[in-house]
Amino acid sequence: MKVGFVGWRGMVGSVLMQRMEVEGDLPKHDWTFFSTSNAGGQGPMSSVLADAEDLEVLSSQEVIITCQGGDYTKSVYGTLRAKGWKGHWIDAASSLRMDSKALIILDPVNRDQIDRALENGTKTWAGGNCTVSLMLMGLGGLFDHGAVEWVTSMTYQAASGAGAANMKELVAQAGYVEAKTDGSATALDLESRVSELLRSDEFPTQSFGHPLAYSLLPYIDSEVEGGQSREEWKGMAETNKILGMDSHIPIDGICVRVGSLRCHSQAFTIKLKEDLPLDEIEGMIKEANNWVRWVPNEKEATLKNLTPTAVSGTLDVPVGRVRKMNLGPQYLSAFSVGDQLLWGAAEPLRRMLGILEERQ
Ligand code: NAP
Repeated sequence: MKVGFVGWRGMVGSVLMQRMEVEGDLPKHDWTFFSTSNAGGQGPMSSVLADAEDLEVLSSQEVIITCQGGDYTKSVYGTLRAKGWKGHWIDAASSLRMDSKALIILDPVNRDQIDRALENGTKTWAGGNCTVSLMLMGLGGLFDHGAVEWVTSMTYQAASGAGAANMKELVAQAGYVEAKTDGSATALDLESRVSELLRSDEFPTQSFGHPLAYSLLPYIDSEVEGGQSREEWKGMAETNKILGMDSHIPIDGICVRVGSLRCHSQAFTIKLKEDLPLDEIEGMIKEANNWVRWVPNEKEATLKNLTPTAVSGTLDVPVGRVRKMNLGPQYLSAFSVGDQLLWGAAEPLRRMLGILEERQ
């Protein structure tokens, strides 16, 4: 297929390139790589970069994959469709997710919907929000069995979730502190010096706008009505769209940026529709897909397997800390970690391209 790729050097795009290389996807297609900042420059696979605003070159693609971001989608997608372009648009950004013509893709969870949409002529495919996709990869079995009445998700989201420049800024912030402190000072002097550095005007905060290293940021994305952040709003809206439910499951929580580089973690409180035994719950979670990993609720197994350090760069989605809470027998706790650049972003896009190729 003739495939155009916009956003190949960003955080999600470079992980997608890596995955396609590992899986041998690249030689299967005729690629054009686009750039918003360096058209005419050198691209991957010895290519010359096309201009990402050039509607003629874009229109000549059978498939366009974009990991460029929502502003790009908003500026190009509508015009391209209005000009009559009938190709497949596969997008990592959130802009089109709730569009009635678009399906949110997460094939281990909603392959049947993808197949139906293909039959019905759908041509617009959006990867889901990273925490939503990772929650469904981890807890999909409970939703499949209709066991969930509602969920709260408190998130611990990695710096790379905000993009390449932000992830680099987190490392730069830590480096700035390291360079300006004396490790042999007393603990209290060290804390006081670090706090002073974090609050100073010189501290590098161009991308995040605030210090993240040695701190955290309990607000992700823009403000929406009702006091939620947009990231929090996506939890309920996108989950229910992906599951294609008739009745909506309430989902809410607080989304927090933390100082991990890669992988989003989530602490869940799940209200079950009925008091199910723990071994049944374990079975439902484990059997949902090939990537979910059950972690027994024991200290050593948890600290070894249920951390961003253990999970970064893998497709595993471990779920642990599962127990009945003091709140009552229908209230379950769970903790999950997943690589937001893989199942939370690049992998569903890569697999959608594979599904289109199968259909050729
Ligand atoms: P990103 O790293 O900021 O990359 C987006 C674009 O920024 C690149 O394609 C590149 O465009 C440009 N860019 C500017 N400075 C760069 C630098 N230092 N290194 C690399 N590229 C740079 O954004 P992203 O995190 O990949 O996100 C892309 C889309 O995916 C967004 O809509 C985001 O919401 C969504 N998403 C992200 C994640 C995640 O974990 N990051 C997860 C799910 C969904 P040019 O080459 O044209 O200059």
